[in-house]
This record gives sequence, structure tokens and C-alpha cells, in this order.
Amino acid sequence: MKILVLNSGSSSLKFQLFMGRDLSVLASGLIEQIGNVQSAAQLSFVDSSGLEKELKRSESVADHREAIMVMADMLRESGVLVDTSELVGVGHRVVHGGEAFHQPVRIDETVIVAIEALIPLAPLHNPANLMGIRVAMEHVANIPQVAVFDTAFHQSIPEHAYLYALPYALYEEQKIRRYGFHGTSHSYVAQQAALYLDRPLEDLHIITLHLGNGASAAAIRNGKCIDTSMGLTPLEGLVMGTRSGDLDPAILFYLGRENDLDMDALDTLLNKESGLKGICGENDMRTISEAAGQGDKQSRLALAMFCYRLKKYIGAYIAALGGVDCIVFTGGIGENSAIVRQLSCQGLEWLGLSLDEDKNNIRQQEILEIQAPDSRASLLVIPTDEEYEIARQTLQVINNS
Ligand code: ADP
Repeated sequence: MKILVLNSGSSSLKFQLFMGRDLSVLASGLIEQIGNVQSAAQLSFVDSSGLEKELKRSESVADHREAIMVMADMLRESGVLVDTSELVGVGHRVVHGGEAFHQPVRIDETVIVAIEALIPLAPLHNPANLMGIRVAMEHVANIPQVAVFDTAFHQSIPEHAYLYALPYALYEEQKIRRYGFHGTSHSYVAQQAALYLDRPLEDLHIITLHLGNGASAAAIRNGKCIDTSMGLTPLEGLVMGTRSGDLDPAILFYLGRENDLDMDALDTLLNKESGLKGICGENDMRTISEAAGQGDKQSRLALAMFCYRLKKYIGAYIAALGGVDCIVFTGGIGENSAIVRQLSCQGLEWLGLSLDEDKNNIRQQEILEIQAPDSRASLLVIPTDEEYEIARQTLQVINNS
């Protein structure tokens, strides 16, 4: 029994092949620069004797159709998927499910039309996700395909938290509201936290912090998300690699008028030239913390701003939840940056939260517990695994249909 997970981006295709009820990883791969003369494809897999191996290819992959062919070819060559009939299902990551999708769904023509209708809300992501879905449905037409949405986990957020204080007609007519993203990751690490703490998820108040190039926080009460920091788009909320996160919207009017910037220029400014990069010229947290450690002023400032914003969200979500049992750090920064975890928890002692600096400096692959013995809540570092979660949800949908 094998499940294939596809994450189709505008010029890339990420995939992972899982096996069995425990969903062990058989292979994972990435095809990049689709559409370029020289695309790079690579596959890491476990061969029949349990050894980890790698296949690499560099060839022209014109479009997603060809990318799926290259993927199928590499999976066959490695021996992990000789025949597509071994698949019980294919799970697709879909970024925007709008208000239409609260859960993962088996894909049919109606679902495709609904994902298409959401393109205006995710003009970069949904078309790429759809491309992957269409090609996979042609390639393995008889295998059930499931869409797993980044937004679905956040559909439990109540109205008073998802609405913007704008004329209500904008919500009614154009669905302007908070949707939130990274839902698969927030949901996965919350479940892992409950398992680790050996308590039912339904009994816990959890704050999850997904800190990668994009970053978001979520407040989860009794297993249901009640608020999240990203909004209509992934621009709102925390300071990110190149995105500003929260700001006074009037800055846009000011820059538009004073600097004569049009909408596209403002979009680029806020999404690509702001955040950590805007402050210190770098968006990689490794480089920034290293430079900050060596006294670079702008890097120190960028780090301080990142952590300050994070701390404000932690405080706000403790208030929204009415208390917290556990805070989870995940994503490339959350999992690896001890300094970010330390600075963002500094000052929360008044709320009963304290971090143990020695534990915080331990590096390990498994779940790491970093709170001090007197902390009122657990502080956990949990590696995220969005592909596993997509595979798990895909299997669940298939088993229930
Ligand atoms: P994406 O959102 O693209 O999936 P990731 O979750 O991989 O991103 O996170 C990327 C971020 O994680 C980068 O800012 C990178 O610098 C940071 N990161 C990765 N390893 C470390 C580390 N050892 N220390 C600090 N930051 C790290």
C-alpha cells in the first residue's frame, strides 16, 4: 500500500512516497526549474536492502506534465514504485481552500472547479497546485486523488476573529477575511504535542509557531484553531524572511502618493523586499544570527524585531485562549534557532512561562522539551512534517470514502 504526496509549485514539483499504515517514507524528490532548459531533478530513496540512495538528473523538463513523467521514471528506476497500480492514493497540497473546504476532500470535477474559483485569492499558488492535480489525474486516472488545503485547519476560527473591521459587504460579496496558511503544519505539530504530552488534544490549549521563510502563529483551543496570524494572504502577521507582516495600512497610501508607487511596486516591496531582508539585507536566519553574534547592528535589529513581534503574538494568543498548556516551535527557524526561541520567550516569565537555556541549546532530531521546571506551560520544539500529514489525511479520506 503506497501513497504519493505531490506539492506542485509554479516551477517546481516536490513529492514523497509513503508506504504502509505507519506511512514510512520510501522516497522523496524534487524537480526544480521546470520550464528552463536545464531542470534539476533529484530523488532520495531507500532501496530494497534498506540503504539510503540518491538519483540525480539534469535535463530539460518543459512543463508539469513532463515533470510527472520524470518523477514516475525516477520512482520506477529506483525500484520504489515499479507500477502505479501499487498506489492507493495521491495526496495534493492545495494552498487555498477558501470557505469552501474545511477538510481534505476526494478530488472530482466539482472540486477542481471550486479550487479554480479560488484563484483570485491565491493567484500564484492555486494555478500551480491545479496543474499538478490535472496532470496526476490524467497520469493515474484510476487512483483516488485527495486535496489537502493549507487553509482548512483555520476554518474553525470564529467570525469575530476572522473578520476585518471593513464594510461587511466586502466579506459578503468578495469574501475578504482572514483565512490563514500553514494549516497542515500547525495541525500536525499540535497533534504531535498532544501525543508527546500524553494528553488528549481536545483537552489542550496550544500555541503553534511555524517559523520558516514564511512564518505564522496559531492559537488552538481543544484541538480547534481559534486564531492565526496570516490573513487574506500570507503577508499578514509575523516578521518574515522578505515579508513585512503587520503594518499600518496607511503606509501604503503614503508611499503610493509620496513615492508614486503603483500596486505592483507596493506588492513587491511588502512581499519581497521587506521583513528581515528589508532591515538587514539578509533573509536567512542562520546568516543573520551569526552576524548579530558578531555585533552587526542591522542584523541585531532584524533579529530583535522578529522576536519582539513573535512575543507579542504569543502574549495575544495566551489572552485569546485564556491560558496555554503548550507552545510549539517549528519550521526551519523554530526547529533550529535557539536564539530566536530564547528572545521570543524572554519576558514571558510574568505569565509563568520560562525557558531552560541549557535545554534550549540542545540540538536533536526528535521532539525537544525546553521549559524550565517551574514553567506553567510546556515549551516544545517539534520538527514539522507536512508531507506526512498530507499522506495521513489522504489515507483517512480514502478509508472513509
Ligand atoms: P520554508 O518556509 O521555505 O519551508 P524552512 O522551514 O526550511 O523554510 O525555514 C527556512 C529558514 O530556517 C531560513 O531562514 C533558515 O535560515 C532557517 N534555518 C535553517 N537552519 C537554521 C539554523 N541551524 N539556525 C537558524 N536558522 C536556521
